[in-house]
Amino acid sequence: MPRLHDYQQVLVTGGAGFLGSHLCDRLLASGVTVVCLDNFFTGNRRNVEQLFDHPRFELIRHDVTFPIHLEVDEIYNLACAASPIHYQFDPVQTTKSSVHGAINMLGLAKRTRAKILQASTSEVYGDPEVHPQREDYWGRVNPIGPRSCYDEGKRCAETLFFDYHRQHKLQIKVARIFNTYGPRMHPNDGRVVSNFIRQALHNEPITVYGDGSQTRSFCYVSDMIDALESLMQSSDDFIGPVNLGNPSEFTIAELARKVIDLTGSRSYLVYHPLPQDDPLQRRPDITLARSTLDWQPKVPLDEGLRHTIAYFDELLTTRARGASSL
Ligand code: NAD
Ligand code: UDP
Repeated sequence: MPRLHDYQQVLVTGGAGFLGSHLCDRLLASGVTVVCLDNFFTGNRRNVEQLFDHPRFELIRHDVTFPIHLEVDEIYNLACAASPIHYQFDPVQTTKSSVHGAINMLGLAKRTRAKILQASTSEVYGDPEVHPQREDYWGRVNPIGPRSCYDEGKRCAETLFFDYHRQHKLQIKVARIFNTYGPRMHPNDGRVVSNFIRQALHNEPITVYGDGSQTRSFCYVSDMIDALESLMQSSDDFIGPVNLGNPSEFTIAELARKVIDLTGSRSYLVYHPLPQDDPLQRRPDITLARSTLDWQPKVPLDEGLRHTIAYFDELLTTRARGASSL
């Protein structure tokens, strides 16, 4: 894949988060200069501490809901809490991060003529009536529920990206990311993979919401970073939106049993009520990504879970020893 040069500055907003930190690693390895911007709401300096001494890495504490003046050539806009417990903690800030954040980053892209990629989400499809979800499906989203700050914020951000493209001729790329997991997920972010692994490693009950028959499709982080890089480097006339995710679909109960098997845990399943507006089925149709980006996920769920379990095992053991304050 053609790469940029060290004089080219790539901004990653939300760069100290789960996906953002892996993206910073990858971009630095490809030879560019990386500016990582984060307000550390859900991200952490620890996620990028391996990069602190790198001569082409810079970390800025900043909230994207406020404008910033930088010189950049590319922007990956990832700043927004992604887990339901975190984005519902301060829903007004969540909408602002998506909407004001998009306006500020698009404004920066307009001034610098940078190419800009938006980390959108499968949540723009809401609780879908069509399955699997294709990019031309407009979604079924509750505009006033507890998930709306995230779903509608991301939908509005997509609108802004397309309007800046039409009105100001900005080079945009819109990725609709489906559930992604891997090392550096926050152990207490409440997402299903991190919850189940943490619970299994502690031999605690595994909390299945609903009857566990709802489905999700889980993409390992390295596959997602490949896809985001390919999308940014794709031809100028390809702007998306494009679904990025792993089309292998599992029920939540199947995931729970896999995690128990892979950890050798003594945990058992307990059932809690399904949260409001929790989508019952989710699987990406990645035909478009396959044909335009020549990309498809490579890492099967069992393998990705093994890497993630090893990461959490080490992290939780360190925390138990009191060496880290997570
Ligand atoms: P994350 O919570 O680990 O990362 C988000 C990062 O953004 C954090 O470092 C956080 O501190 C930062 N942030 C939040 N609000 C900010 C603000 N106002 N200003 C500056 N920084 C801010 O989540 P993630 O899983 O790494 O998700 C990254 C992006 O990908 C998000 O935009 C998310 O919506 C999107 N996405 C992720 C998934 C997934 O499964 N991981 C799925 C769909 C979409
Ligand atoms: N879930 C669960 N137990 C948990 C956490 C989540 O059963 O401890 C379910 C949740 O209700 C949803 C699915 O797992 O149906 C995925 O949840 P997550 O928050 O990871 O992602 P999202 O709902 O945004 O896809």
